[in-house]
Amino acid sequence: MTLIKDSAIVLRRLDYSETSQVLSMFTREHGQQRLIAKGVKRSTKTRVAVGIDLLELGRVVFSIRPGKEDNLATLTEWRQEDNFAYLRRDLSRCYAAQYAAEVTSHLTETHDPHPGLFDGLRDMLLALKEQDALPTLATFLWVMLTEIGLRPDMSRCMSCNRSVSAGDALYFSARQGGTICRDCEPAVVEKRRIADGVAQVLATKAWHKTALVGPVFDLLDYHITEIMARRPRLSKILRAVIDQHA
Ligand SMILES: [Zn+2]
Repeated sequence: MTLIKDSAIVLRRLDYSETSQVLSMFTREHGQQRLIAKGVKRSTKTRVAVGIDLLELGRVVFSIRPGKEDNLATLTEWRQEDNFAYLRRDLSRCYAAQYAAEVTSHLTETHDPHPGLFDGLRDMLLALKEQDALPTLATFLWVMLTEIGLRPDMSRCMSCNRSVSAGDALYFSARQGGTICRDCEPAVVEKRRIADGVAQVLATKAWHKTALVGPVFDLLDYHITEIMARRPRLSKILRAVIDQHA
């Protein structure tokens, strides 16, 4: 039995029995881990146990049986460091955080560490205390795409390799991994128009200063949808809440 200590963020949780939970935690040094937390919801006379919640950050200790790495690991200790309580008071921030958890869970593998991505997710959850949902999420998604090697190239046409300026009318193809110029566009099947100004925002990472954060999110969401081969579950509902507040 190997005991592992790490920092972790809870990406998914499901109640397993009256007293236990199965959790998907994104650990900093050991990637995603699926853990069973036995007895974590067992209440005592003085304390009501509610278990471990989605998007908590903390220090985890878990054990893995050598040779059984594909099985559920067993959580032996959890010390919560932050539960980002402010997320529960604001729907758009809450959904943005859940969107980030969903795509991180889907686009990273178990036992595949991405410390930079872990830090990006933690920074996003912290930033949501002060900053708006959509630009903060866009910043995180750019970090995530960079960390998993799928950041789109917005500097040249992915088909003819000509450098493109952000002001040109451009298309975007997820499969090609970036921008497509007007000349090459007819031959590319999977593509979408890039809204005016969006390429510029991506090139300069100026999401916090722009009114274009909606179209920027749409483009990143499109890219991620193509990569995942399905739309993130939170995508539509996040959009709806943001449109309501716009
Ligand atoms: Zn081209």
